Amino acid sequence: MIEDKNPQRTSIAQLGEFGLIEHLTKNFEVNQPSTLKAIGDDAAVLDFKDKKVVVSTDLMIEGVHFDLAYMPLKHLGYKAVVSNVSDICAMNAKATQITVSIAVSNRFPLEALEELFAGITLAANEYKVDVIGGDTTSSQKGLIISITVLGEADAEEIVYRNGAKSSDLLIVTGDIGAAYMGLQVLEREKQVFQVNPNAQPDLDAYTYLIERQLKPEARKDVRTLLHALEIKPTSMIDISDGLSSEIMHLCKQSKVGCNLYEDKLPLDPQLISVCEEFDIDSTTVAINGGEDYELLFTIAMEDFEKIKANPNFSIIGHMVQESEGIHLVTRANTKIALKARGWNALSE
Ligand SMILES: [Mg+2]
Repeated sequence: MIEDKNPQRTSIAQLGEFGLIEHLTKNFEVNQPSTLKAIGDDAAVLDFKDKKVVVSTDLMIEGVHFDLAYMPLKHLGYKAVVSNVSDICAMNAKATQITVSIAVSNRFPLEALEELFAGITLAANEYKVDVIGGDTTSSQKGLIISITVLGEADAEEIVYRNGAKSSDLLIVTGDIGAAYMGLQVLEREKQVFQVNPNAQPDLDAYTYLIERQLKPEARKDVRTLLHALEIKPTSMIDISDGLSSEIMHLCKQSKVGCNLYEDKLPLDPQLISVCEEFDIDSTTVAINGGEDYELLFTIAMEDFEKIKANPNFSIIGHMVQESEGIHLVTRANTKIALKARGWNALSE
């Protein structure tokens, strides 16, 4: 966890926009050789030489994508960068630069923005991405963060969503579902706190789940791991909305079906015990919970031997003909049609 909390409150208006930007960006380092000019001119200048450039962008709105009641600003800044870097990892590319734009209401003092930018800086250093620009403006209500991330890869390295074949194996990194259950724990604590503000939460039994929700990591290591194994995925996506919805994306774009095996889903022991406590089915959580930022990919059957015993990866299913559909094969060996019930900000 990241410690934060600065007790002072300085009004943003005191600094003015340019003073604010200078103050918030003064700690950013430039490390990527492709960054010729970062912050400080009308535009940044980049040179990727013979590499392909991959670009992704993300918009996060207070009350829709995050709740500041249990998401400390430093964690929010960290997570905003991570979720963007994860999209570049999902292309089998290396993240190199980000731009950060925020709109903020005057209820946020300077110290709050310092916390947010401390988290952004921490993640930028961890993931070696240069912050090369952005914008700061005021909002009528709440906080809005938009990050654009750039990355690089050789043309032949890039992995799309549409390359899976009907005999490919389906693989996931790490474990899944924990970030969603971390959110359930935090929601419950928020309600307890609203009833009794003096309640001291004992969260020791939930540390892994909460960490996965508040300080997720992007799998930048997977590109290197797969390269060392001499495996190039045939399709790939990151798990932001939930496993089932990501499987549907791969299947739809690759024009294949899928059999996903319930008994192969990688679940952390803490997830299993907290699901029991909350009386929630852990398979449902693993399939529908989002924000794990693990990678989901397919590989050709002939690469099975290279990956089968690797602790970083779980083989959770295989692709089939499109006409066979997309199914979960349960422990009882029954087949259930998979539905995309991932997080959908538009439906809430
Ligand atoms: Mg994605």
